[in-house]
Amino acid sequence: MAKIIKSNKKRRFCRVHNCKQQLSMYNFSTYCHVHQHLALEKQTAVLSSASV
Ligand SMILES: [Zn+2]
Repeated sequence: MAKIIKSNKKRRFCRVHNCKQQLSMYNFSTYCHVHQHLALEKQTAVLSSASV
């Protein structure tokens, strides 16, 4: 099986507006490692509200 690896040459930056952290091309998250918890909190919030 051949894995298709997206080689984005576009520079991507953390979704947090004040954060200038550049995301690595292997980081498919929209947040940098510093703000990744924001994405996780969002996900858990959605999950918990959906299960209620
Ligand atoms: Zn960030």
